[in-house]
Amino acid sequence: MSHRFVHENRPGRVVFAAGARSRLPEEIDRLGLHRLIVVCTPGHAGLAAELAAPLGERIADLHPHATMHVPAAIAAKAVARARETGADGCLAIGGGSAIGLAKAVAKDTGLPIVAVPTTYAGSEMTPIWGLTADGRKTTGRDPRVLPSVVVYDPELTTTLPPALSVTSGMNALAHAAEALYAPDGSPIHTLVAAESARALADALPRVAADPHDTDARSDALYGAWLAGSVLGATTMSLHHKLCHILGGTFDLPHAETHTAVLPHVLAFNLPAAPAARTALETALGTTEPASRLFHLARGLGADMSLTALGMPEDGVETVVSQALAAPYANPRPVTEAAIRHLLGRALSGVAPA
Ligand code: NAD
Repeated sequence: MSHRFVHENRPGRVVFAAGARSRLPEEIDRLGLHRLIVVCTPGHAGLAAELAAPLGERIADLHPHATMHVPAAIAAKAVARARETGADGCLAIGGGSAIGLAKAVAKDTGLPIVAVPTTYAGSEMTPIWGLTADGRKTTGRDPRVLPSVVVYDPELTTTLPPALSVTSGMNALAHAAEALYAPDGSPIHTLVAAESARALADALPRVAADPHDTDARSDALYGAWLAGSVLGATTMSLHHKLCHILGGTFDLPHAETHTAVLPHVLAFNLPAAPAARTALETALGTTEPASRLFHLARGLGADMSLTALGMPEDGVETVVSQALAAPYANPRPVTEAAIRHLLGRALSGVAPA
């Protein structure tokens, strides 16, 4: 085999253990931070206060105003608050929404981020930021928004409801699957992505069966960590493009949309990506990875219909035109007919063809 790749290691420290939240003070001291602004969603204010308590005077402010997709006005307020309080770091506690807000703060202020993820979305491992203004989400890459330390504590994920655990896990699986055929993949990213898919597919049924099974939670979060790291290191393709359009245009829920779309994109792409297909077949223990993921998610209760998630039937035209408007990497040329076909199946929630 003739190898040909570019591989770059990203900075960042990861602390992973059940109970790892108790190591936050030590990690923050290690970074030499003294005044942190803590960001989270309103629903996580209690958890944030609990995690912040041992940090005492090192907490400058608790800012529980994160919402989905980082609205620009909310980002601006958090940036202003970080400046007013003289914060020297940002502690993000929660899922992609909380980490997204911390990234908006870091992007404008350069403050280092300490992230404590509580979902499987994976944003904590990427230098990708997103901001939504006037109904449009803009994303970009900036090394300053990559968290300096990520503290993964599976015990913090046991409260994630089973349905959201499954779809959030499928969201992570989508990062792993698309990393396997990314144009800028490397042998290490391939190993990481395949291990991520294996770990997630194995863990999700156990998580759904018992959300308080900490071993299952640990395996799922481990898979999500790996998925986030390949998401940050490679360029995603058609699946992520479609989900970005669907989320932005129809305000569909993030993880649920990824779950409903992924099997259909894989059914389209894998015939043109034989190495990715083989890796996924091995990771998932099947000769039909797309179908396996569809039945895995549906069997665990996920809603596989975009219509049920809120996409209007006449929205297909908008998605088709946006998906064809700007070129992006994909292992198989993306045609109008292909998008119509796979969106049609995802709308009605039938198995991939
Ligand atoms: P989220 O952060 O909005 O969390 C979903 C819901 O679950 C929220 O209501 C939250 O309060 C709740 N929740 C989170 N953790 C919980 C827990 N342990 N127990 C109980 N409830 C909990 O959603 P998400 O799916 O984590 O992230 C989605 C967002 O992140 C999107 O805006 C997406 O675009 C972004 N994202 C960005 C990147 C990136 O690299 N920049 C990567 C992935 C996702």
